[in-house]
Amino acid sequence: RQPMSDTTVRWVDLRPRDDAEAVEAAIRRVIEAGWFVLGPEGEAFETEFAEATNGGRTVGVASGTDALTLTLRALGIGTGDEVITTALSAVYSAQAIVMAGARPVFADIDPDRLTLDPAAVEALVGPSTAAIIPVHLYGQPADLPALAKVADRHGLAIVEDCCQAHLATCCETPVGTAGVAAAYSFYPTKNLGALGDGGAVTTRDSQLEARLRRLRNGGQTERNQHTDSSAHSRLDEIQAAILRARLPLLPSWTARRRTIAAQYRDELTNAPVLVPATLDTGHVYHLFPIRTTGRDAFQEHLRNLAVETLVHYPVPIPAQPAFAFANPAPCPIATTVCNELVSLPLYPGLRDTEVAQVIEAVCTAPATGSL
Ligand SMILES: *Cc1c(COP(=O)(O)O)cnc(C)c1O
Repeated sequence: RQPMSDTTVRWVDLRPRDDAEAVEAAIRRVIEAGWFVLGPEGEAFETEFAEATNGGRTVGVASGTDALTLTLRALGIGTGDEVITTALSAVYSAQAIVMAGARPVFADIDPDRLTLDPAAVEALVGPSTAAIIPVHLYGQPADLPALAKVADRHGLAIVEDCCQAHLATCCETPVGTAGVAAAYSFYPTKNLGALGDGGAVTTRDSQLEARLRRLRNGGQTERNQHTDSSAHSRLDEIQAAILRARLPLLPSWTARRRTIAAQYRDELTNAPVLVPATLDTGHVYHLFPIRTTGRDAFQEHLRNLAVETLVHYPVPIPAQPAFAFANPAPCPIATTVCNELVSLPLYPGLRDTEVAQVIEAVCTAPATGSL
């Protein structure tokens, strides 16, 4: 790895900035209170996050993967059940299905939206299908109205993976409200991140909420009463306090993400890349992937101009060895798209000069075959 020069546009910068004082005060407050797991900060964050997302009651857990896994378990979904999810996402969307004991079934994506294709989902519904996990990938809402119709027709639960979509809306309705529950991650790179791992489930179903509170806490109903087998998965007090300090800044961070995305869109219309369409103004731009048929040369060109890039994701989930056991059907659109994606730097702390540097680098990239 080469040392970075001052002019390198870094892929991401996770050091607290406009939130630094509030974050440090939050950490000190927890240390002084001397209470570190399942306490007042976690409870207050749950209330505040429920209000911010409009998703109903919130249950803090240890990660986004656990939020999905515990929700499936709390819904009674496991051995013998199938859960349909997208071929293009972070693998954790599908790992959670396996962790719950169910079989993941991968549907191909809509080539414009890059999220679950509702027609592909419908074609995969069978007698063992119990739920659908749509992912609001890169911050762009999945086609929830169409997916909800499929779910209704077949009596399936929808569990939304909102790990990349804090505060996003779909057709002007907050994401996380179309199904029975929604899962969030607070991994440091997410739109709302902790300084470590964290996650949450939001739900309007009070029975589901009660089961989740039990499952995150060793299956305990009350002190020394354990009714379920379960591990610990809790959002700790320091992370909850940090998230409380950051949550009020999230709307302004989201606005900054949208501003940068709009600049990229405006300035890259003649660049030799395909910029995915914005299909909903509720997009929160967790990532800004472009598509190119000459990915290696494109990334090399940007590297030479001191712009870091990453690929989300180079391999469709069904092609990962971890899922071979589930005998996944091929997903040709996801397979093609995975060979073309490159994520440009986009985060609230990115400076205007850096945005300009990224645009200049993309516009001067070598031309490639058409997409
Ligand atoms: C980050 C992420 C997860 C997993 O969250 P963790 O907190 O890392 O476990 C799941 N799904 C998607 C779409 C994600 O981006």
